Amino acid sequence: MEGPFFDLVFDNPLEQSFTYQIDDKAQAAAGKRAMVPFGRRDCLGYITAERKNPPDGIKAESVKKIRRVVDSELLFGDKDIELARWMADFYFCSTGQALAAMIPSGRKAVIPDLSYGDEEAQETLSISDEQAAALHEITIGNGNQKHGIGSQPSMFYLYGITGSGKTEVFLRAAQHMLNEGKSVIYLVPEISLTHQTAKMITSRFGSLAATIHSGMSPSSRLAQWIRIRKGEAPVVIGPRSAVFAPVPNLGLIIIDEEHDGSYKSGNTPRYHTRQIAFKRCGSEGARLVMGSATPSAEAWKLMTDGNIKRLDLSRRLSGGGMPEIKPVSLAKTDGCLTKELKEEIRLTAQMGKQTILFLNRRGFAYFYQCPECGWELTCKRCSVSLTWHKSRDRCMCHYCGYYEAPPSACPKCGCLEAGFRGFGTEMIEDEVRRTFPDLNIRRVDADTASKKTGLSGNTGEEKAVKNLEETLSLFKTGVIDILLGTQMVAKGLNFPGVRLVGVIFADTGLHLPDFRAAERTFSLIVQVAGRAGRYFPGSRVIVQTLRPEDPLITRSCALDVTGFFNAELKQRKALGFPPFSRLIRFTVRSKEESRASSSINHLASIALSLIKNKSNIDMLGPAECPIGMINNNFRRHLIIRSPSMNAVHPVAQELLSQYEKGKDAKTYLEVDVDPVSML
Ligand code: ADP
Ligand code: ZN
Ligand code: ZN
Repeated sequence: MEGPFFDLVFDNPLEQSFTYQIDDKAQAAAGKRAMVPFGRRDCLGYITAERKNPPDGIKAESVKKIRRVVDSELLFGDKDIELARWMADFYFCSTGQALAAMIPSGRKAVIPDLSYGDEEAQETLSISDEQAAALHEITIGNGNQKHGIGSQPSMFYLYGITGSGKTEVFLRAAQHMLNEGKSVIYLVPEISLTHQTAKMITSRFGSLAATIHSGMSPSSRLAQWIRIRKGEAPVVIGPRSAVFAPVPNLGLIIIDEEHDGSYKSGNTPRYHTRQIAFKRCGSEGARLVMGSATPSAEAWKLMTDGNIKRLDLSRRLSGGGMPEIKPVSLAKTDGCLTKELKEEIRLTAQMGKQTILFLNRRGFAYFYQCPECGWELTCKRCSVSLTWHKSRDRCMCHYCGYYEAPPSACPKCGCLEAGFRGFGTEMIEDEVRRTFPDLNIRRVDADTASKKTGLSGNTGEEKAVKNLEETLSLFKTGVIDILLGTQMVAKGLNFPGVRLVGVIFADTGLHLPDFRAAERTFSLIVQVAGRAGRYFPGSRVIVQTLRPEDPLITRSCALDVTGFFNAELKQRKALGFPPFSRLIRFTVRSKEESRASSSINHLASIALSLIKNKSNIDMLGPAECPIGMINNNFRRHLIIRSPSMNAVHPVAQELLSQYEKGKDAKTYLEVDVDPVSML
């Protein structure tokens, strides 16, 4: 007798599974990986099912053999494979790609191991009334559970100003679940927050906690995964991929800093952690709690509509007050520091306190332009300005890593005056050093922390991480007077001595062709302002801007989240954007512009015929992407949209299958369900 047979899927776009057989059946099982011959090579695949007979029409003799079963223990249970199938369906990827995303290979960003700030965790606090009420709801309230919808989990949102003690509530909710014999997944944004919070959690839960992060080697990640699956670590902490942690008896998923962009995966499958958490909590009967001082528009609407129970924390608990936040016009300022900001920096230093200077650099470059003819230095492979990095004397592309030496004269008209414009962190660093020669100044930015630059090898990365660690711990102990940085300094960091936060240029990012630009700017200003005065009153925030009267700026300075969302949601509704609609974005790319155009036009014509008679679905585009070229690929996109995912998803499915039939092999198509970036 032949068999048994096993179905395998692979980390490639093919949705189909392939059947293999094995002589020694003892080792093979659904949920393990195996090496098998695939085409002309050997490939690693995931066993998803066992079967008695080969598929219809295939003779047993012709079924290829598994070369080797890789895992001695199960990696995936039925529940995980089921989740992967659901993901494949929802995000238009293959089951193999979904399984691969659940245990990523661990070669992405290096996460700094921030070995400071674990001291707070030791003392036992007595919690405030607000904290106690929130904790009570999260652990035993019903979270506006809609009765009758069986798979809708109990959901809560801990909406608390920065420094209001959300972490303590999360930790206690986790403890409560442990006491009940249940497991907890505690999700945090990538980069800085991870290790500070991880340290705190580890010191609370000791060996019951497992940390997953993207800096781990594949083997230690696998070891953690197996430990978790065996129930040896009922508290799992990590960034987005930890949402897949195979904990038995899941009781609670926590999503800290819910608004953070890193919860959406940037590559296939482009899942959103919130969506996966929602799905898991629903099918495993667990609770879901999110938290932030600046919820996403999606979460805000769910709260206002009563679909998520909102829990408020309205006070700072460790002696801090909210800072006084002031918009200041940059209009008549030479350089990048206003008189007001300089005076406050001086005053802060005299008081023996510290300053954080924040530059929102997203979409903003320190770019090279000719004053005579307007020629601009752009990437040869992407259509974006190159950023000048003075310390390396290089002009770099932040999308593909390309760099070149800065030109000494304009290559177009020969003008020798051509030079650099805009603010970069390095230029601000120069100005701050010149203005305050007696103060200790340090800079951290994304370049010193994560490796998009394409310049540094492994040792460079390690050095950068070391630097960052050192800088942050020096800042924490008060040795550094001024910390200058980008997004890195806005996220979750908790420094006791900060009296002043200066936002160098708040308008950055507002010009991006993305309907979330205002939301991101608002949230960043509020978050970065939240770094000031966490432990003492009288702190200050100066927000430098070219439009101090703009409602977005005045509302962020007033920390007026409600006012901001009232205005923003009105506009989103009028324009039909999320959270009032769901989007599915199709992006094609090709080395040849004509192929990119004809593919997107082909896609658009199918889409139009599919939505012709459907009044609740429309199409945006086709158009060139805001970043029209990346790495020598021309990019075009279109978006289909509907108030209802149930309406738009099947159309996307049909669109894909019709497009696949006649597609151009030299263009690539990427589908993004609920896209977060439109660039
Ligand atoms: P959030 O996450 O809401 O921004 P944190 O959780 O970082 O705020 O808390 C801010 C500070 O308040 C921390 O130093 C924390 O130790 C402290 N804290 C939290 N709860 C209490 C409490 N009940 N009493 C006193 N201090 C508290
Ligand atoms: Zn010129
Ligand atoms: Zn480039």
